[in-house]
Amino acid sequence: MKDRDFDVIIIGGSYAGLSAAMALGRAIRNVLIIDAGQPCNRQTPHSHNFLTQDGATPVAISSLAKSQVLAYPTVQFVNDTVFDVLGFDNNFLIKTAAGKIHTTRKILFSTGIKDIIPAIPGFAESWGISVIHCPYCHGYEYKGQNTGILANDDMAIDFVKLIGNWTQKLTLFTNGKAVFDKGKFDKISIPGFEIVEKEIAELIHENGHLKEIVFKDGSVQEIDALYARVPFVQHTDIPAKLGCELNQMGHIKVDEFGKTAIAGIYAAGDNTSRLRSVSSAVAAGTTAGAFLNHELIAE
Ligand SMILES: Cc1cc2nc3c(=O)[nH]c(=O)nc-3n(C[C@H](O)[C@H](O)[C@H](O)COP(=O)(O)OP(=O)(O)OC[C@H]3O[C@@H](n4cnc5c(N)ncnc54)[C@H](O)[C@@H]3O)c2cc1C
Repeated sequence: MKDRDFDVIIIGGSYAGLSAAMALGRAIRNVLIIDAGQPCNRQTPHSHNFLTQDGATPVAISSLAKSQVLAYPTVQFVNDTVFDVLGFDNNFLIKTAAGKIHTTRKILFSTGIKDIIPAIPGFAESWGISVIHCPYCHGYEYKGQNTGILANDDMAIDFVKLIGNWTQKLTLFTNGKAVFDKGKFDKISIPGFEIVEKEIAELIHENGHLKEIVFKDGSVQEIDALYARVPFVQHTDIPAKLGCELNQMGHIKVDEFGKTAIAGIYAAGDNTSRLRSVSSAVAAGTTAGAFLNHELIAE
């Protein structure tokens, strides 16, 4: 099928997308990566828990990845945003914000997710620095330090038990009256652990490094780190418009190879999985790249 511009267009050129592109480039496939340049971890100063790159900046990891991927001559990369996809398997047409139109046989969405940051002053500025979502990514750097967990749901107990592995100086902030059964916490054996139900007015920080939580009643509590799991949305609703189903959590449904239920459309990375890490995104991209190639060979 020579009349399409590309075998595969990869929408989203961060860890999952670049990883898929490497597999496809090594399979001598014509690939275009279109990337809007907004990876979710862009504000974090150091990325951890990815072999060979522990502590590197997010951009150092993606820049090295990009240079290695673009060494394969059949792979191209553009900074642009896809705003519409038309067509069907083997005959997709992709429109971008820069006014380009590309045709392709297959599509991979590696578009990530967009975190919905709560409207607490100081939260956005500290996100990924000292307001963190994952202990495996950033918990070691705050081990033994004065740590809060911002949560007010039935999962709060599990979050407290988990973070208690990294620090015993722990407070659960519910930012308003607790809606869960507080009796569940009776067996928590962390000395000094308490549940604070006061509403938060502001997070005081220096360049994203937390100093204090200020409550609406005017009281203040010192803090070094705050864990929070924030809600998210898909970065783009194009997969849903094309018929790709989302699961209850809001991830695109895929099989173990990254294939959606819509022919010719794959997805990989944060947009498909609650296992949120660079290594998981890279692994999912490798798999999707290989199985896109298998599909092209089979056809
Ligand atoms: C604050 C923070 C800190 C983190 N720290 C770590 C850590 O230390 N270690 C670790 O392993 N993991 C960490 N993670 C998780 C890790 O960053 C993600 O799992 C990983 O970035 C997912 O990769 P991805 O390629 O799926 O998506 P992303 O990296 O989010 O990239 C998606 C890309 O798709 C692009 N895109 C979206 N829509 C379009 C469109 N319509 N057209 C073109 N491009 C589009 C975006 O602009 C972006 O460049 C962190 C996450 C966050 C939020």
